[in-house]
Amino acid sequence: MTDNNLIVAKFGGSSMASAEQFRKVKKILDSNPARRFVVVSAPGKRNDTDIKVTDMLIECHRAATRGENFIPIFNAICERFNAIAEGLGITFDASYDFLNLKLHLSTYPDYNYVVSRGEYFNAKLLATYLDLPFVDAKNIIIFDDNGHCDEPSTYIAIREALKDKSRAIIPGFYGATREGRIKTFSRGGSDLSGSLVAVGTEATLYENWTDVSGMKATDPRIVENPKTIDFISYKELRELSYMGANVMHEAAVFPVRQAKIPMNIKNTNSPLDAGTIIGSSHRLACLQHEQCEERIAGIAGKIGFSSILVEKHMMNVEVGFIYRALEVLSSRGISFEHLPSGIDTISIIVATKAIENQETNIIEEIKKATKADSVEIRHGLSLICVVAEHISTRHDIPQKIFAGLAKAQIKVKMIDQGASSLNIIIGVAEEDYETAIRAIYKEVF
Ligand code: ASP
Repeated sequence: MTDNNLIVAKFGGSSMASAEQFRKVKKILDSNPARRFVVVSAPGKRNDTDIKVTDMLIECHRAATRGENFIPIFNAICERFNAIAEGLGITFDASYDFLNLKLHLSTYPDYNYVVSRGEYFNAKLLATYLDLPFVDAKNIIIFDDNGHCDEPSTYIAIREALKDKSRAIIPGFYGATREGRIKTFSRGGSDLSGSLVAVGTEATLYENWTDVSGMKATDPRIVENPKTIDFISYKELRELSYMGANVMHEAAVFPVRQAKIPMNIKNTNSPLDAGTIIGSSHRLACLQHEQCEERIAGIAGKIGFSSILVEKHMMNVEVGFIYRALEVLSSRGISFEHLPSGIDTISIIVATKAIENQETNIIEEIKKATKADSVEIRHGLSLICVVAEHISTRHDIPQKIFAGLAKAQIKVKMIDQGASSLNIIIGVAEEDYETAIRAIYKEVF
């Protein structure tokens, strides 16, 4: 299905929440015929107090399995779809599908089947409104017996199902096992469905339509009106997401990244905004857009870290010291986040939650395994990550980061520039976290 200009467009819950939003989706699709394959979420929130249809389905399933009266919530779900159809002035006869769901809920309802119906009904509704073919995700997103997506089979199924179609509407979030049992991804999984369809159709672009005009360079709850990121590489995105900048389902990035398909995060409510392009390399993207300037992708961070400080005289000459210390953590199933080391000290940074209720044992076990002079745990650490491609070749970035922190009189507790040349991570006390992000942002942007 090689088409030099094929776009897979995925519309999230807020883009698919009401008749008004459906109209915007139609306009967006009509404005570019390259948007041939469309993946949709279930109706999301229409306002701050609203409930997502997926959450209503979860509640409905819960009530049904407990033998409670699920009919009121079931009716409310059907009403959400009927109201959209009515608002669009179309006839959407879903009575057969609704009845099927009701009968299913009355027996031994399967969780995956029930929660997947939000996407199923919504895709059917959009297909009816646009008069386009509906392709059920159960036939194209294939799960293996372990509950994981079988990507090679999925791509074959996508190609086969869509090869004769010029356009189609596909529900996100779910697929099925080879035996036809419905299986959903984790929450937010329609992003992943869209990514799989983009790879399966060899799309030139994967558009992810949301209610924001792209990714912000830092957390807008901390910095007022931060800049929107215009281009970001997949590698940079991974760094920012790891540090808590969530734009989409984490697994959604891998298929398109591997297939070298760029992604564009766009805003259904403001479709002319350029949004954020995510591609293989920022420099490449810059060159294509003739605006290559050295820049920083973004700043992200997290609180809730602890540092396990291990000290031993002559540690530097002792073979296997770090290995023995880390073995204590791995035997307890604890993964560490960072490992800055000195001559006679190492500091193992872990999520505070991961060591909860085990601290005394961890200290004793590390002492025993390493014969350390002292082992101590300190809490209240936050990590801030400044992300930019080729950061290690940029003398200006560390200078700006530390100038910002110094001006704000913030003490730095840890510095880590990983081997990836993609980030610099700085540890500061949790109480300094937000001030530090503001101080760094001010200097680097
Ligand atoms: N509707 C599902 C959820 O709310 C999946 C999605 O929207 O991606 O998580």
